[in-house]
Formats: sequence, structure tokens, C-alpha cells
Amino acid sequence: MPSSQLPDSYSDSDLVAENTSDVDSNQEFSQPPRVSDQSGFSTQCVHSGEPHLKDSGAIPTPVYHAATYSFDKTDDLLRFVHGEDIREEYGRYGNPNERSVEAKIAAMEKTEQAVIFSSGMAAIVGVFMSKLSAGDEIIFFDQCYRRSRDFCVNHLSRFGVVTRQVPTGDYEAMEAAITDKTRMLVSESPTNPHLTVVDLEKFAAIGKANEVETLIDATLATPLNMNPAEYGVDYVLHSATKYLGGHNDLIAGVICGSNELLEPVRDLRGISGNINSPQNMYLLERGLKTFHLRVQRQNETGMKVAQFLETHPRVEHVYYPGLPNHPTHEIAAEQMRGFGGLITFTVKDADWRQTANVVDAARIPRIAPSLGGVESLIEQPLIMSYYKCTPEERLQYGIPDNMIRMSCGIEDADDLIADLDQALRS
Ligand SMILES: *Cc1c(COP(=O)(O)O)cnc(C)c1O
Repeated sequence: MPSSQLPDSYSDSDLVAENTSDVDSNQEFSQPPRVSDQSGFSTQCVHSGEPHLKDSGAIPTPVYHAATYSFDKTDDLLRFVHGEDIREEYGRYGNPNERSVEAKIAAMEKTEQAVIFSSGMAAIVGVFMSKLSAGDEIIFFDQCYRRSRDFCVNHLSRFGVVTRQVPTGDYEAMEAAITDKTRMLVSESPTNPHLTVVDLEKFAAIGKANEVETLIDATLATPLNMNPAEYGVDYVLHSATKYLGGHNDLIAGVICGSNELLEPVRDLRGISGNINSPQNMYLLERGLKTFHLRVQRQNETGMKVAQFLETHPRVEHVYYPGLPNHPTHEIAAEQMRGFGGLITFTVKDADWRQTANVVDAARIPRIAPSLGGVESLIEQPLIMSYYKCTPEERLQYGIPDNMIRMSCGIEDADDLIADLDQALRS
């Protein structure tokens, strides 16, 4: 439109006024008007949670490198301390980059709120420390992230919290282990590295029937493939280091749930200071925008690679919940929209060295811990995460010497398959 036709109201000063005045800070962190609960998942990933009116009209959330935040006048501070204005105060309690990512992940996970931490483990430690007291008990399904078990068994115990472990998927054993001291039931789904899928309906129902809170570490599932809160699970945890960040370039963790349940978690985070730098959150926000595309591709590639491995003469067994022979395939098929990019398999008649030779012969995947990023990664659990365990412990955890875990990135599936084929034949 030629400028001569601009209505008077579009003077420069009005534009400035429109962008800055009458915007209460509460609104800044609410859903931008273009996104609603009805928006598609990709739209949510790209737009949810970001303040609609950003400084200078920047498209990404600007990186707010600030340790502290000012108030114009005492009345503004009073509004804040009375809870009438949600905004930043001091950097240990959070920053605008964290808030935008938290709101985005809460929208993706369909929960009221999300609290972001400096790592997945910081989120796990944060939720347990804010919820449990001496004398309390928690019950775990036993296939679980090694460091989660480590924290509960070796550290929570020092504060008088008892951890009980029951076999993964044994719902009767879990219910039978509940006492009047039990506060929380905990599981991963799918588990690592066996990719066992937990029946969330049953799991949540046991919690509800016994008035015990439930927590699912859904890192391997991702919010694209599964939303545990829809089944009544109270806390949904992610290592954002994995699929949410997705680029093997940041460490973060997040816990999702209701406002009420997460209030003490956020409160303790403000004391312990397990927060993220604004720069780290800029990377996570950027990763989340392509989350849907990446994980869709990883679901597809994961399935193709698993099907290929299943028929390979040198492969003994494949663990992938998308394959009908997986013990929890039926639950997975009912409960998950995709099965992810992580595949575990064993090499036929191979000792640890012959298995290591397969890992070494693969050219595309890098040998590294972690999963979920755009670059494929490969590892032999015996030598990566379980090296310091005794053979008896490895037997107990189900980690044979000939096991390989591969995290598919977003490379071409055909290239990954050809590479694994030559590695297995070498
Ligand atoms: C990686 C991982 C964690 C720990 O997350 P960090 O970000 O590394 O602290 C917890 N649970 C699962 C299932 C994981 O894969």
C-alpha cells in the first residue's frame, strides 16, 4: 500500500505504542494468539510458548543475558510479590529464554506446566528432592537409567528415603510393594536399552488407586510418540539433551505436570539453582522448532533399520518396540504414535571383541553415549555405560557382551542400512 494511503492511525508513534504499551507481562508468556490447543503438533513446536511481542520484532526469542531484572517503581515490585504479575526477578529463578521453552514443551506434552533443569539428571534429582522426605519410599521398575538408580539407591538413601525395585512390567509386584510410606511410582517408557514399553493406563491406575504419585521418564518416547499425562501419569520427565534438543549440542532436562504438583519443584529449583543459561535455552528453542520433522524421520528410519537388522544373518536378536516380536509390541502399538530411532541388537556368536569390531567398522554412526540427535551414534553398552559393573550385575541388568545400541539420526536410512550391513559382514 502506498504510504499516502496509510490511515492516520498508522503513524510511527502509534506503531510503537501498539507494540509496547498495554501489554501486561503475564500475556508475554501466554500462548501467542496464532496458536491454540487445536493447532497441529508442528505448529505447536514452532510457535507455542514464545512471547508474541518480542523486542524489535525478532522471530526467535532474543537471548536475554541478564542476571537480574529491574522494576520501574516499587508498585511494580509489589504487583510482582503479590503474584499479580508473572515476570522475571533474579536469574536463579529463571529467565525469559527458559520460560519460552518451558511453555513450548508443556504445550507439546499437553500438561499445564513444565520446569526446565540444567540436565535430565538435575530434573530427576530436583523432583525427588522436592517431593520426598525421610521415611518415604519410592518404587521403581528395574530397567532404568543407570544414574537414576544410582541417585536413589546410593544418595536418597542417605536422607532416609527407601527405594524398592520390582521387575519392569510386573504391575502386581509394583502394587504389592506399595506401603503407607510409598510416595511415588517411577518408570521409564520405553526403557533403555531393552526398549520395554510400560502400560501407562495400568501404571497410572495403580498410582491413583493407592493415592501415590506416578512419574514416567519418557525421554526415549518423546512427546511426538506418546503423552503419558493423557493416561493420568502425574509427572513426565525428559532428558532434553536427547530428542528435544536433538543436535548433540546441549544438556538440559525437563519435568512436565500440573501447576499444583510442580510448584514445589520450581521452588526448590530456585534454591538449588539448577537452571539453564539463556544461550543454552536459545539452542533448545531452536532444536524444538524442527522437533516434529526430525523425530518423524527418526521414527521412519528406526523402523527400517530394525526391520533390516531382524533379517540379517549376523544378528541374533533385535530389541525395537515397533517389531511384532518385541515382548511389549502390543502395548507400544496401542500407546505410541511412532517407535523412535533407538535400536538395540545382539551379534550372533560374537564375543565382546568381535562385537566391538562391528562397532568400529561402522562408518556413519559415531561411537558416543547419548541418543536422539541428528547424527547417528553407536555404542556397545558393555564398554560404554556398564563397564564398571561386575559380570553378575550386567547379567542382572540384561547387558550381554555382544549387545550394540544404535541411535538413528536423520541421515538417509539406505545409507545407514548399507553401512551396518558392511560393518556386520566385516
Ligand atoms: C540421558 C538420560 C537421562 C539423563 O539425562 P541427562 O540430560 O544426561 O542428565 C535420564 N533418563 C534417560 C532415559 C536418559 O536417556
